[in-house]
This record gives sequence, C-alpha cells and structure tokens, in this order.
Amino acid sequence: MSDLHDPATFRTHLVAWLSENDLSPADDHSLDGHLRQFARVQRALYDAGWNRYGWPEHAGGLGGPAILRAIVGEEVVGRRLVEPGPYSMLEVLAPTMIDYASPALAAEMVPKLLSGEEMWCQGFSEPGSGSDLASLTTRAAPHGDDWIVNGQKVWTSFAQFSRRCVLLTRTGGPDVPNHEAITAFFVDLDTPGITVRPLRTMHGVDEFCEVYFDDVVVERSRMLGAPGDGWRLAMDLLPYERSTCFWQRIAYLYARFDALIAEVKAQGQAVDSDMGETYLALHTLRCRSRATQHRLAAGHKLGPDTSVDKVLLATAEQRLYDTARDLLPGVVELDDTPWRTEYLYSRAATIYGGTAEVQRNIIARRLLDLGKE
Ligand SMILES: Cc1cc2nc3c(=O)[nH]c(=O)nc-3n(C[C@H](O)[C@H](O)[C@H](O)COP(=O)(O)OP(=O)(O)OC[C@H]3O[C@@H](n4cnc5c(N)ncnc54)[C@H](O)[C@@H]3O)c2cc1C
Repeated sequence: MSDLHDPATFRTHLVAWLSENDLSPADDHSLDGHLRQFARVQRALYDAGWNRYGWPEHAGGLGGPAILRAIVGEEVVGRRLVEPGPYSMLEVLAPTMIDYASPALAAEMVPKLLSGEEMWCQGFSEPGSGSDLASLTTRAAPHGDDWIVNGQKVWTSFAQFSRRCVLLTRTGGPDVPNHEAITAFFVDLDTPGITVRPLRTMHGVDEFCEVYFDDVVVERSRMLGAPGDGWRLAMDLLPYERSTCFWQRIAYLYARFDALIAEVKAQGQAVDSDMGETYLALHTLRCRSRATQHRLAAGHKLGPDTSVDKVLLATAEQRLYDTARDLLPGVVELDDTPWRTEYLYSRAATIYGGTAEVQRNIIARRLLDLGKE
C-alpha cells in the first residue's frame, strides 16, 4: 500500500472508493444532522483507512505527507458529503495534540477524533479576550498532583457536542509576562464543575457555546506541553486553522459557486462580470492555499504567512455570497434557502480564526515590516 503515499495515486484510489461507497447525507439540514453525518463519514473513512493517511503512525495514522489529508478533505467536502465546519475542528486540534500531548495521550486520543467516535472543541476566546488572546483570565492553579480551573470561555464551537476541549488557562502570576503565563490542558467536558450553554448565531444555529469552569479538577497528565507553553501552542495551532482546513473549505466554496452558476442560468440571466470577479477571488485563494499545502507537506513550519490565506478566504467567501445576493434577488432577504443561512454565516469569515483587521496588522508588521502603527 506504500504507493498510496503518492498524492496522485492516493486521490485516484480514494475517488474510486467514494464512488463505490455511498455516503450521501440524509435530507437533514439541522446541526445535529450535520454532526451525525460527519461522524458516519469519518467512521467509514477510518475503517477503510483513508482519513488515517497523512497522520503519523504513533498517533494512529498510516503515515505519508500531510497533503493526503488535504485531498481527503477536498473530495469529501467538495462532494458535500460533510459540511466544512465540523471537518475543520479535526484539522485544527489533532495536529496540536500530536505536537503537545504526551505520546501516550496522543496515541490514545487522536484515533477517537479521526474515527468520528468523539468531537473536540477549542476553548481559547473569553468574553474579554478575543483578538487580545494573551489577556485571557481563566485560571488554573496547582493543587497536589492536579490543577483546579476557574473561569469562562465563549464562542466555543460545537462544545455542546464535544467530549473534550483544548483549553487555554492562565497559570503564571502578575510578575510573569503574559506569553509565559499561559498553559494548555486537554479537559474532559463531563468533569464536574463544567457548564456548557449553547449560543444562537444570527444564521439561526446553536453553533457555539459559553463554557463555564467552576473548581474543575484536571489531572497533571492532561497538561499539553509544560507550564507556560500555552502561548506557543496557540501560535502553532492558528496556522493549522488556515492551512489544511482551508483546502476543504475552498472545495466547498467552489461547489457553491457551481451551484450559483446553475441557478443564475436557470433564471435566464447572463453569467456576468460579478461572477468573473468571484471566480478570480476563489482562484486566487486556491492558488495561495495550494502553495501553503505544499509548504506544509514539505515539512515547513507555518506562521504569520498564513494570515494572507485568511484574508483571501474571507474576501472570496463574502464575495461569493454577495454575488448570490445580487444575482438571485430576494434569496437572502426573503427566502428560506441555504443561500440565506450561508450568506449570514459568511459574515463570520472576517471574525473567526482571527479578525480581518488583526490579520492585516500581522501582514503589515510581521511580513511587510511596516512598523508598529
Ligand atoms: C463562527 C465563529 C466561531 C468561533 N469559534 C471559536 C472557537 O471554537 N473557539 C474559540 O476560542 N473562539 C472561537 N471564536 C471566537 C473568535 O476567535 C473571536 O471572535 C475572534 O478572535 C475575535 O475576538 P472578539 O470576538 O473578542 O473580538 P474583539 O477582539 O473584541 O474585536 C472587536 C473588533 O475590534 C477589532 N480589533 C481588535 N483588536 C484590534 C487591533 N489590535 N487592531 C485593529 N482592530 C482590532 C477587531 O478586528 C474587531 O473588528 C469563533 C468566532 C466565530 C465568529
């Protein structure tokens, strides 16, 4: 099977397998339905081995370059077998566990995520700390061999469906610089003292949550890295949020672009320059992301350069849905169609994973060296 580590061969075999194994979703467009379908597809891919490629063998994978994961994401999400949102959590959290959890913990836990047996969430943002993440105040204090966590997280995607959370806490005192005072833990969400409250988004879905921690006991073995490593973990995680997980989102946006062309034509309208500009935005994004996938596959560490990918993604996604709004009159304002919910969700693209303003600051300061202000 080692030729399956070759991306072209891998794709050919995967596409053949997908055409022989019907994983089409049921006609259930609720978030619960999407997550059930996600677990079903993950299980089938795992049992057949496909979504184990590109992950290291010591964490339950079958090895090979990370680009194999991008191929699975593209084929599965591009065919609309699963929605891009749940899929992205996998690409963000599994690499972090592999890099920071003890080898035994990663070997035990990562297969649960890959196989769809469990969902995990990312507990970073707090009511007072989003862009300025280093100011977070959820506290973890040592207590014998354990740590006691108190505080609150917010906007935690899929927390109500998750078994576990990658959680950032403050462990250093006032004399420790912010970036050395943060420590990450891998927390079971059924631990006593944790309350999860779903929040409704403007597109009408309880997609994210408030999560409260009230004297929550976490074992030392669940610390990710060492005390004070949390900031480095967060900085290493964020580029993953903008690399492999973007590739599958781009496949999804292309699928929606094809659907838009079909609907515009069905209404007897010409495919005009708005469509051309939308295609250009998507194509630019895809070219940029392709280069990023190849850098990741070649073993490069990703950093602030992925802020360019994030700006291009948010721009292309919002342009696509703006075009749908303009060319399909009433579809956003009046109709209860996927275009309406997706249009509303696309507004979040300039917020999640780092806001557009903050990404532009990073590009200006860290890539273009334009100075502080
Ligand atoms: C759909 C969605 C899912 C999310 N999922 C998760 C999740 O799973 N886990 C998680 O931890 N978080 C999640 N988030 C939260 C997300 O990471 C934060 O919303 C984001 O980091 C922005 O933080 P904030 O909302 O506190 O806004 P703020 O940081 O308060 O920003 C408010 C405004 O001020 C601007 N601003 C802030 N600082 C600067 C600056 N220095 N220069 C210029 N402008 C600035 C911002 O661009 C923005 O326009 C999610 C958010 C969304 C929308």
